[in-house]
Amino acid sequence: MSEQNITVKRTVSNNWFLLKIALQEAPLYTLQELTTRARHRVIVFIEHIYMIGYIVNCIQYERPFTDVLWFVLAVFVGVTLVAQVLPNYVETRLKPLSLEKIHLRIRRELYRKAAQIDLKNYDDPAYYNEFVWAMGEAAERTEQVIGSCAVFIGEIVGILVTGAYVLTQDPLGLVLTGISVLAVLLLSNLYNKYRLQFQEKMKTLERKRDYISRVFYLPEYAKELRLSRLKPKLYEEFADTSRQLREIAAKETKRLAILSFCMNYCCSTFVFEGIYLIYLLFQAIVRGAIGYGTMVTLYNSCYSLRGCSQSLAWVLTQFPEHGRYIEKIRHFLECPAQICQDEKAEPVKGEFKELSLQKVSFSYPQGEQVLKEINLTIRRGEKIALVGYNGAGKTTLVKLLMRLYDVTSGEITRNGRDIRRLNLQEYRGQYAALFQDYQMFAATLGENIVMDKVPVDQEKIKPLLQKSGFDRKFSELSRGYETPLTGEFEEDGVTFSGGEAQMVGICRSLYQDSQIVVLDEPSSALDPLNEYNLNHTMMNLDREKTVIFISHRLSTTRLADRIYMLEEGRIVEEGSHRELMELDGKYAAMFRMQMEKYR
Ligand code: ADP
Repeated sequence: MSEQNITVKRTVSNNWFLLKIALQEAPLYTLQELTTRARHRVIVFIEHIYMIGYIVNCIQYERPFTDVLWFVLAVFVGVTLVAQVLPNYVETRLKPLSLEKIHLRIRRELYRKAAQIDLKNYDDPAYYNEFVWAMGEAAERTEQVIGSCAVFIGEIVGILVTGAYVLTQDPLGLVLTGISVLAVLLLSNLYNKYRLQFQEKMKTLERKRDYISRVFYLPEYAKELRLSRLKPKLYEEFADTSRQLREIAAKETKRLAILSFCMNYCCSTFVFEGIYLIYLLFQAIVRGAIGYGTMVTLYNSCYSLRGCSQSLAWVLTQFPEHGRYIEKIRHFLECPAQICQDEKAEPVKGEFKELSLQKVSFSYPQGEQVLKEINLTIRRGEKIALVGYNGAGKTTLVKLLMRLYDVTSGEITRNGRDIRRLNLQEYRGQYAALFQDYQMFAATLGENIVMDKVPVDQEKIKPLLQKSGFDRKFSELSRGYETPLTGEFEEDGVTFSGGEAQMVGICRSLYQDSQIVVLDEPSSALDPLNEYNLNHTMMNLDREKTVIFISHRLSTTRLADRIYMLEEGRIVEEGSHRELMELDGKYAAMFRMQMEKYR
């Protein structure tokens, strides 16, 4: 999403959006945080402004010592309680607990949304950036919003208290403060605009630089990096990106530095430390119009008023900034999933009989057409193989079948009903899938197979271990189903080889009582013996189970009831292995070529 300006109303609404969450989750902490600054401002006024003035005036006009003593004692007790005991409790006890609660709530909402969003959003770089960004930013942004609101409330209270005092003693001080604040407000607006532009320009390049850095340190890339000749190119790109970043920084920071000087010196220090101080000294010493205490009090008051106003001006620029960021979070949270649970969706009724694709075409967002006018029908219990070279569109086709994406044109029906009209959850529930990029989660082996919190049904799983070929490895695992996988959470977590992990994946897809099993290159990491076993398992699965599997190794597809050969997004041949061999077309050519290779 581009960095657009949002209305004041939306800015308020956005800031309130996060503040409300904080108030709901941790009301005590949030309220206390919101009033911190206000308390601080009142204390500053009493202790550092009014009290000092009072003491100096008492000395100048020789008032009794007890007057001063009682005053100082009262201030000391009040300040200790409000400024030290309470904040200490909040900082050490309330804050960690409350922040955790707030973070939990926000992350829960984001995760819930992340699990729902359309897969196609992951293909859209702008949306994906927003998603990654929202994840990283939301919790911290809530703290910032609370902080800004606290500053806002605090500075208003500070201005009211101190301003009322100055107004009664010397209105000129108020006028000077007003002029200075206005100038700072205008300049800081400009400053923020440029800073945001600067950050935006840096962001894209930083992302590129971070990607290159990741390639150098992430284990996934380590092997290929060593074996390929990509390194010099990456070094070059890295250096180039760093150079561009430096150039932008050099150009943009000059403007920011000038603005900062005007803001902080010309409109502030010069006015107060210069003009106003001389005026006060003149009033007290030359004209004797005010006492020394009052002079000090007024100077401190205006100093404090300036601080309050500048801080208020600054925080007022923070709200739109928060607002823009929160807009992205809300945009992410509120972006309706196009593939979603329609309330009027029809339940997925009756036994699965057939899936049918009629004239289905599909393009990824911002991409060319990947599938073109596909027609095919898969009936209950059939074992279907999709074959073809890489990039032919096989995986895309099964993603469409499972409604991970919606067709661009044409129609997919289940038992004659357009799948877009069916209850999404129920529709997807009839599939068990093993994709090429399946993941092992940081959980136990059992949980990785069952993919649920429920305990492993050992009776059900045992034959699957054998069918998938995982039984041998399983017998070596001393903790059995309780074996922790990956080293993320447990130091002794096990990492399986590609083939072993694939076998676990196969167990996972067979364990679920799904009517349709989808396997995308299920044997790509298996050795020939396990591959052979797997094929037999697939073909001899329950007659009721429909199996759709993708493979570009044709030895695995021989036993399929029907084979669809895809090329550049079209079905170019279909039939059983025998029929296609007799046809002696592209499938037969591909098959013979592979046989040659494996001979
Ligand atoms: P296959 O499974 O036959 O190897 P795919 O269905 O994975 O083929 O890919 C078909 C085409 O779609 C390829 O050109 C691939 O680059 C493209 N493609 C796959 N996934 C995406 C995606 N998420 N975004 C854009 N293009 C994609």
